[in-house]
Amino acid sequence: MSSVEAASIQSEKARAASGRLWERLLAEAEQLHILTMFLKAIPPEFIHFEFDDLRTYAAEYHPSEHRMILNRSLSFNAAGGTLKPLTKMTHKELEVLYHELFHAYMDYLSSSGEPSAEVSGVSNGLIAFARRQQACRYGEVAITPVVQRKDETESRYLAESESWEALNETWAVFIGWAIWNQLEVQHKGGGSILQHQHQADQWMQRLEMAFQKGELRGYYVPEDPDERRVAQKRFLAKQSQLSWQEAVVLMKQVLGFPDKFISQAEKRHGLAVLSTQNSNCQMSNVQ
Ligand SMILES: [Zn+2]
Repeated sequence: MSSVEAASIQSEKARAASGRLWERLLAEAEQLHILTMFLKAIPPEFIHFEFDDLRTYAAEYHPSEHRMILNRSLSFNAAGGTLKPLTKMTHKELEVLYHELFHAYMDYLSSSGEPSAEVSGVSNGLIAFARRQQACRYGEVAITPVVQRKDETESRYLAESESWEALNETWAVFIGWAIWNQLEVQHKGGGSILQHQHQADQWMQRLEMAFQKGELRGYYVPEDPDERRVAQKRFLAKQSQLSWQEAVVLMKQVLGFPDKFISQAEKRHGLAVLSTQNSNCQMSNVQ
Protein backbone atom coordinates (compact mmCIF):
# COMPACT_ATOMS: atom_id res chain seq x y z
CA MET A 1 0.00 0.00 0.00
CA SER A 2 1.38 3.43 -0.90
CA SER A 3 1.74 6.09 1.75
CA VAL A 4 -0.85 8.17 -0.09
CA GLU A 5 -3.36 5.32 0.09
CA ALA A 6 -2.54 4.73 3.74
CA ALA A 7 -3.07 8.42 4.50
CA SER A 8 -6.42 8.47 2.72
CA ILE A 9 -7.59 5.38 4.64
CA GLN A 10 -6.46 7.10 7.84
CA SER A 11 -8.40 10.25 7.06
CA GLU A 12 -11.45 8.19 6.05
CA LYS A 13 -11.28 6.46 9.44
CA ALA A 14 -10.93 9.80 11.22
CA ARG A 15 -13.99 11.13 9.38
CA ALA A 16 -16.04 8.08 10.32
CA ALA A 17 -14.92 8.38 13.95
CA SER A 18 -15.88 12.06 14.19
CA GLY A 19 -19.22 11.24 12.55
CA ARG A 20 -19.91 8.65 15.25
CA LEU A 21 -18.75 11.02 17.99
CA TRP A 22 -21.07 13.75 16.75
CA GLU A 23 -24.06 11.41 16.53
CA ARG A 24 -23.42 10.29 20.10
CA LEU A 25 -23.01 13.86 21.33
CA LEU A 26 -26.39 14.87 19.88
CA ALA A 27 -28.12 11.79 21.32
CA GLU A 28 -26.65 12.34 24.79
CA ALA A 29 -27.56 16.04 24.76
CA GLU A 30 -31.14 15.03 23.99
CA GLN A 31 -31.06 12.51 26.81
CA LEU A 32 -30.06 15.29 29.21
CA HIS A 33 -32.87 17.52 27.84
CA ILE A 34 -30.40 20.24 26.90
CA LEU A 35 -31.14 22.49 23.97
CA THR A 36 -29.05 21.51 21.01
CA MET A 37 -30.41 23.40 18.03
CA PHE A 38 -27.12 25.01 17.01
CA LEU A 39 -25.24 21.70 17.25
CA LYS A 40 -27.50 20.19 14.60
CA ALA A 41 -26.36 22.83 12.13
CA ILE A 42 -22.65 21.96 12.47
CA PRO A 43 -21.46 19.19 10.10
CA PRO A 44 -20.19 16.12 12.03
CA GLU A 45 -16.63 16.35 10.73
CA PHE A 46 -16.24 20.12 11.17
CA ILE A 47 -14.59 20.13 14.61
CA HIS A 48 -11.33 18.32 15.36
CA PHE A 49 -11.38 17.28 18.99
CA GLU A 50 -8.09 17.02 20.85
CA PHE A 51 -7.25 16.43 24.48
CA ASP A 52 -4.35 17.79 26.46
CA ASP A 53 -3.29 18.64 29.98
CA LEU A 54 -4.27 22.26 29.88
CA ARG A 55 -2.96 24.24 32.81
CA THR A 56 -4.25 27.77 32.37
CA TYR A 57 -7.64 27.24 30.74
CA ALA A 58 -10.11 24.37 30.74
CA ALA A 59 -10.47 24.47 26.97
CA GLU A 60 -9.35 26.28 23.83
CA TYR A 61 -10.80 26.71 20.38
CA HIS A 62 -8.66 27.58 17.36
CA PRO A 63 -10.91 28.85 14.55
CA SER A 64 -8.28 28.77 11.79
CA GLU A 65 -7.97 24.97 12.09
CA HIS A 66 -11.43 24.28 13.60
CA ARG A 67 -9.57 22.65 16.46
CA MET A 68 -11.07 22.20 19.91
CA ILE A 69 -8.62 21.35 22.65
CA LEU A 70 -10.24 20.09 25.79
CA ASN A 71 -8.75 19.15 29.09
CA ARG A 72 -7.98 15.46 29.34
CA SER A 73 -10.54 15.17 32.16
CA LEU A 74 -13.24 15.63 29.50
CA SER A 75 -12.08 12.56 27.61
CA PHE A 76 -13.30 9.00 28.02
CA ASN A 77 -11.54 7.45 31.06
CA ALA A 78 -9.27 10.52 30.98
CA ALA A 79 -7.29 8.63 28.31
CA GLY A 80 -7.25 11.50 25.82
CA GLY A 81 -8.83 9.43 23.02
CA THR A 82 -12.44 10.45 22.59
CA LEU A 83 -15.00 12.60 24.34
CA LYS A 84 -16.39 11.40 27.66
CA PRO A 85 -20.16 10.69 27.51
CA LEU A 86 -22.12 13.88 28.23
CA THR A 87 -24.16 11.92 30.76
CA LYS A 88 -20.96 11.35 32.78
CA MET A 89 -19.89 15.01 32.78
CA THR A 90 -20.44 17.41 35.65
CA HIS A 91 -22.60 20.45 34.99
CA LYS A 92 -19.45 22.59 35.06
CA GLU A 93 -17.80 20.39 32.41
CA LEU A 94 -20.88 20.67 30.21
CA GLU A 95 -20.81 24.44 30.62
CA VAL A 96 -17.20 24.48 29.39
CA LEU A 97 -17.97 22.12 26.50
CA TYR A 98 -20.98 24.14 25.32
CA HIS A 99 -19.02 27.39 25.60
CA GLU A 100 -16.43 25.93 23.20
CA LEU A 101 -19.05 24.35 20.93
CA PHE A 102 -20.60 27.78 20.54
CA HIS A 103 -17.22 29.17 19.40
CA ALA A 104 -17.13 26.36 16.84
CA TYR A 105 -20.64 27.26 15.67
CA MET A 106 -19.70 30.93 15.11
CA ASP A 107 -16.59 29.72 13.31
CA TYR A 108 -18.71 27.45 11.12
CA LEU A 109 -21.17 30.25 10.27
CA SER A 110 -18.33 32.67 9.49
CA SER A 111 -16.45 30.20 7.32
CA SER A 112 -19.53 28.97 5.49
CA GLY A 113 -20.19 32.44 4.15
CA GLU A 114 -23.11 33.35 6.35
CA PRO A 115 -25.25 35.49 6.15
CA SER A 116 -25.78 35.21 2.39
CA ALA A 117 -25.88 31.41 2.53
CA GLU A 118 -28.78 30.56 4.80
CA VAL A 119 -27.19 27.67 6.61
CA SER A 120 -29.96 25.09 6.87
CA GLY A 121 -32.32 27.98 7.53
CA VAL A 122 -31.33 27.95 11.22
CA SER A 123 -28.89 30.79 11.56
CA ASN A 124 -31.16 33.53 10.26
CA GLY A 125 -28.35 35.96 9.76
CA LEU A 126 -26.73 35.49 13.17
CA ILE A 127 -23.36 36.73 11.90
CA ALA A 128 -24.98 39.83 10.43
CA PHE A 129 -26.64 40.50 13.78
CA ALA A 130 -23.32 39.90 15.53
CA ARG A 131 -21.53 42.39 13.26
CA ARG A 132 -24.15 45.06 14.05
CA GLN A 133 -23.81 44.41 17.77
CA GLN A 134 -20.03 44.49 17.47
CA ALA A 135 -20.21 47.95 15.92
CA CYS A 136 -22.70 49.49 18.31
CA ARG A 137 -21.99 47.74 21.63
CA TYR A 138 -18.42 46.44 21.61
CA GLY A 139 -16.51 49.22 19.86
CA GLU A 140 -16.32 51.17 23.11
CA VAL A 141 -16.64 49.17 26.32
CA ALA A 142 -16.20 49.51 30.06
CA ILE A 143 -13.65 47.16 31.59
CA THR A 144 -12.72 46.29 35.16
CA PRO A 145 -8.95 46.95 35.31
CA VAL A 146 -8.75 45.04 38.58
CA VAL A 147 -10.79 41.86 38.19
CA GLN A 148 -11.69 41.62 41.88
CA ARG A 149 -12.93 45.23 42.06
CA LYS A 150 -16.07 45.04 39.97
CA ASP A 151 -17.16 48.63 40.61
CA GLU A 152 -13.99 50.27 39.36
CA THR A 153 -14.27 50.67 35.63
CA GLU A 154 -12.36 52.26 32.79
CA SER A 155 -13.37 52.90 29.22
CA ARG A 156 -11.62 51.34 26.23
CA TYR A 157 -11.92 51.72 22.47
CA LEU A 158 -11.45 48.28 21.00
CA ALA A 159 -9.76 47.33 17.76
CA GLU A 160 -11.74 45.25 15.26
CA SER A 161 -10.32 41.92 16.45
CA GLU A 162 -10.70 42.85 20.13
CA SER A 163 -14.35 43.80 19.82
CA TRP A 164 -15.09 40.62 17.84
CA GLU A 165 -13.43 38.56 20.56
CA ALA A 166 -15.27 40.47 23.32
CA LEU A 167 -18.60 39.76 21.60
CA ASN A 168 -17.79 36.10 20.98
CA GLU A 169 -16.70 35.54 24.57
CA THR A 170 -19.73 37.37 25.97
CA TRP A 171 -22.05 35.25 23.85
CA ALA A 172 -20.21 32.01 24.70
CA VAL A 173 -20.40 32.90 28.41
CA PHE A 174 -24.16 33.20 28.01
CA ILE A 175 -24.47 29.85 26.20
CA GLY A 176 -22.44 28.16 28.95
CA TRP A 177 -24.49 29.96 31.59
CA ALA A 178 -27.79 28.89 29.96
CA ILE A 179 -26.75 25.22 29.83
CA TRP A 180 -25.34 25.10 33.37
CA ASN A 181 -28.46 26.68 34.85
CA GLN A 182 -30.74 24.46 32.81
CA LEU A 183 -28.95 21.41 34.17
CA GLU A 184 -29.04 22.70 37.74
CA VAL A 185 -32.75 23.52 37.61
CA GLN A 186 -33.64 20.23 35.92
CA HIS A 187 -31.50 18.26 38.35
CA LYS A 188 -33.40 19.73 41.28
CA GLY A 189 -36.82 19.34 39.69
CA GLY A 190 -36.31 16.29 37.49
CA GLY A 191 -37.59 17.18 34.04
CA SER A 192 -37.08 19.45 31.07
CA ILE A 193 -37.51 23.20 31.59
CA LEU A 194 -39.56 23.17 28.41
CA GLN A 195 -42.11 20.79 29.91
CA HIS A 196 -42.35 21.93 33.50
CA GLN A 197 -43.50 25.44 34.30
CA HIS A 198 -41.93 25.43 37.75
CA GLN A 199 -38.49 24.65 36.31
CA ALA A 200 -39.00 27.25 33.57
CA ASP A 201 -39.81 29.87 36.24
CA GLN A 202 -36.69 28.97 38.17
CA TRP A 203 -34.52 29.34 35.08
CA MET A 204 -36.02 32.72 34.20
CA GLN A 205 -35.55 33.92 37.76
CA ARG A 206 -31.88 32.93 37.58
CA LEU A 207 -31.56 34.82 34.30
CA GLU A 208 -32.91 37.99 35.94
CA MET A 209 -30.45 37.58 38.82
CA ALA A 210 -27.56 37.11 36.39
CA PHE A 211 -28.43 40.36 34.61
CA GLN A 212 -28.78 42.22 37.89
CA LYS A 213 -25.47 40.94 39.20
CA GLY A 214 -23.70 41.53 35.89
CA GLU A 215 -22.63 37.93 35.44
CA LEU A 216 -22.96 37.79 31.66
CA ARG A 217 -19.67 39.46 30.85
CA GLY A 218 -17.05 38.52 28.32
CA TYR A 219 -13.41 39.42 27.89
CA TYR A 220 -10.76 40.03 25.24
CA VAL A 221 -7.00 39.75 24.95
CA PRO A 222 -5.54 43.25 24.40
CA GLU A 223 -3.73 43.71 21.10
CA ASP A 224 -1.35 46.31 22.49
CA PRO A 225 1.72 44.50 23.90
CA ASP A 226 2.13 47.13 26.63
CA GLU A 227 -1.40 46.58 27.87
CA ARG A 228 -0.96 42.82 27.54
CA ARG A 229 1.99 43.04 29.90
CA VAL A 230 -0.36 44.53 32.50
CA ALA A 231 -3.21 42.09 31.87
CA GLN A 232 -3.42 38.96 29.71
CA LYS A 233 -7.16 39.39 29.52
CA ARG A 234 -9.44 42.38 29.98
CA PHE A 235 -12.83 41.61 31.50
CA LEU A 236 -15.81 43.71 30.53
CA ALA A 237 -17.65 45.58 33.28
CA LYS A 238 -21.31 45.16 34.17
CA GLN A 239 -22.46 48.02 31.93
CA SER A 240 -20.89 46.19 28.97
CA GLN A 241 -22.43 42.82 29.73
CA LEU A 242 -24.75 41.01 27.35
CA SER A 243 -27.82 43.05 26.40
CA TRP A 244 -31.30 41.65 26.77
CA GLN A 245 -31.76 41.93 23.02
CA GLU A 246 -28.69 39.76 22.44
CA ALA A 247 -29.90 37.22 25.01
CA VAL A 248 -33.22 36.88 23.21
CA VAL A 249 -31.55 36.35 19.84
CA LEU A 250 -29.23 33.69 21.32
CA MET A 251 -32.09 31.91 23.08
CA LYS A 252 -34.13 31.84 19.91
CA GLN A 253 -31.63 31.37 17.11
CA VAL A 254 -28.85 29.43 18.79
CA LEU A 255 -30.35 27.38 21.62
CA GLY A 256 -33.79 27.05 20.04
CA PHE A 257 -36.06 28.05 22.91
CA PRO A 258 -39.73 28.05 21.82
CA ASP A 259 -41.42 31.44 21.28
CA LYS A 260 -43.77 30.86 24.21
CA PHE A 261 -40.86 30.42 26.62
CA ILE A 262 -39.12 33.53 25.30
CA SER A 263 -42.20 35.71 25.55
CA GLN A 264 -42.68 34.59 29.17
CA ALA A 265 -39.05 35.48 29.90
CA GLU A 266 -39.49 38.85 28.19
CA LYS A 267 -42.59 39.64 30.21
CA ARG A 268 -40.75 38.80 33.42
CA HIS A 269 -37.75 40.85 32.36
CA GLY A 270 -39.97 43.83 31.54
CA LEU A 271 -41.42 43.70 35.06
CA ALA A 272 -38.08 43.25 36.80
CA VAL A 273 -36.12 45.93 35.03
CA LEU A 274 -37.43 49.15 33.61
CA SER A 275 -34.20 49.95 31.88
CA THR A 276 -30.95 49.39 33.69
CA GLN A 277 -29.11 48.76 30.47
CA ASN A 278 -28.55 51.33 27.84
CA SER A 279 -28.35 49.47 24.61
CA ASN A 280 -27.64 51.89 21.81
CA CYS A 281 -28.47 49.33 19.18
CA GLN A 282 -31.57 49.81 17.09
CA MET A 283 -34.15 47.06 17.22
CA SER A 284 -34.63 47.29 13.46
CA ASN A 285 -33.26 44.60 11.18
CA VAL A 286 -33.37 42.02 13.93
CA GLN A 287 -34.68 38.76 12.62
ZN1 LIG B 1 -14.36 31.34 25.01
